[in-house]
Amino acid sequence: MQALIQELRAQLGADQVLTEGDLSAWEQDWRKRDRGRALAVVRPGSTAEVAAVVQACIAQRARQPERPVSIVPQGGNTGLVMGSTPDASGEQVVLSLQRLNRVRALDADNLTLTAEAGCILATLQQHAQAAGFLFPLSLAAEGSCTIGGNLGTNAGGTQVLRYGNARDLCLGLEVVTAQGEVWHGLSGLRKDNTGYDLRDLLIGSEGTLGIITAATLKLYPLPAAQLTAWAAVPSLPQALALLRLAHRHLGAGLTGFELMGQFALSLADKHLPQLRVPLWRQSPWCVLLENSDHESLTHAREQFDRLLEAALAEGCISDAVVAENLAQAQQLWQVRESIPLAQVAEGLNIKHDIAVPVSRIPDFVAATDALLTQAIPGVRLVNFGHLGDGNLHYNVQAPQALDAAEFLRQHEEQVNHLVFESVRAFGGSISAEHGVGSLKLAHLEQHKSPVALGMMRAIKQALDPLGLLNPGRVLRHE
Ligand SMILES: Cc1cc2nc3c(=O)[nH]c(=O)nc-3n(C[C@H](O)[C@H](O)[C@H](O)COP(=O)(O)OP(=O)(O)OC[C@H]3O[C@@H](n4cnc5c(N)ncnc54)[C@H](O)[C@@H]3O)c2cc1C
Repeated sequence: MQALIQELRAQLGADQVLTEGDLSAWEQDWRKRDRGRALAVVRPGSTAEVAAVVQACIAQRARQPERPVSIVPQGGNTGLVMGSTPDASGEQVVLSLQRLNRVRALDADNLTLTAEAGCILATLQQHAQAAGFLFPLSLAAEGSCTIGGNLGTNAGGTQVLRYGNARDLCLGLEVVTAQGEVWHGLSGLRKDNTGYDLRDLLIGSEGTLGIITAATLKLYPLPAAQLTAWAAVPSLPQALALLRLAHRHLGAGLTGFELMGQFALSLADKHLPQLRVPLWRQSPWCVLLENSDHESLTHAREQFDRLLEAALAEGCISDAVVAENLAQAQQLWQVRESIPLAQVAEGLNIKHDIAVPVSRIPDFVAATDALLTQAIPGVRLVNFGHLGDGNLHYNVQAPQALDAAEFLRQHEEQVNHLVFESVRAFGGSISAEHGVGSLKLAHLEQHKSPVALGMMRAIKQALDPLGLLNPGRVLRHE
């Protein structure tokens, strides 16, 4: 392996090939569930250097096939399914894209932005805004996740009901293949039916089919006004009724519809006392709504007022507050986005990121809550998520009296089984937006159809026959 390290240092410069010191930022996953050991962390600064790393690893494979080196692409390392950190073998190279962080172009007439994979999502949002445009991908990790990781996982977030997932926001990719070649696919075209859609294949492949080095992304006009409201909702069927009303009153202006259960909000209130969490004590559910209006603030307010009046009259909400200004709106969003951090503060928990058809969410939650509380008395359910997309973070926290680590040891398998069987019964997905990584690999094998798994294996074999890229993620390494 020493020859490989020397070759990498020659190609990238010694400073950009880390083998010693504290590598925890690259080796430890965000939830601190596991820590791997990297052969090296490499930080290429260009697409050509990424290709050189892949070629150096292929050459090392030829020299030492009995110790097969592999590559783990990494962006901001905020992924939640243990897909971006190395395993314990000490034979994986972590390829950090963070130095590929240039915005290459903004085409105002084509409404596109071309940026390198290591650009931080929030930086891209700001770049678009400074030019008078909206890049709508938005998630709580946006201050540290990268666009390459967003596309690698086909990230969702809070604006999906209006703008779609990361896949829907991408018009082209530049990719280093598992052979160390560069695919220049930054077309920026909205129409291109020339065979298989390689872009869509690469998006969501979690670093197992190629390394994304740049992307051409869709921009939208900035709305003239954006209003945020927070409503107390008496039940989940009423939350659905509110969603129907919001679609009817706001049309394409409805850009956010986030559901939060009372226990989830109680954790935010407990662990982040600097936040003011509205209305949570009086209601089992709260909903955060966002209205983006292309006419004016007055128009946005009138529409919102009409919606909330109708919702009160129909009993979908018991109370509501509308943010008076941007600062108040940001505070409301901060509460929603702080829930994952509050959960971390409360202790380890069993996370699920599930999707079922929007219409079936109330029945899914009622049925699954009943199964879990029957099986594990005192279990605490942290429910929140993107109701507008049928996507819930359905998380399970230990009963108050039980140590969290012990709870996981005793019950993780049982809880996963109950939740995923329920997801199956309701026609859902076991991973709506976080992906598979290594954490959900075994579950994927149980829940994906054998035909689909067979096609996925054939694609992996065709594009990465050596199993060089992120082996053991998404699919078992054979
Ligand atoms: C507080 C918090 C909130 C979150 N909220 C959401 C949410 O609302 N919606 C959502 O979808 N996710 C959410 N996530 C998960 C996570 O932020 C996303 O998955 C994000 O897209 C990962 O980006 P990253 O740059 O950190 O990627 P990483 O974690 O570094 O990598 C994730 C995966 O992508 C691969 N990858 C990374 N870069 C590349 C590349 N350039 N080319 C090919 N593959 C690559 C990695 O190998 C890995 O498999 C949240 C995470 C946190 C911590």
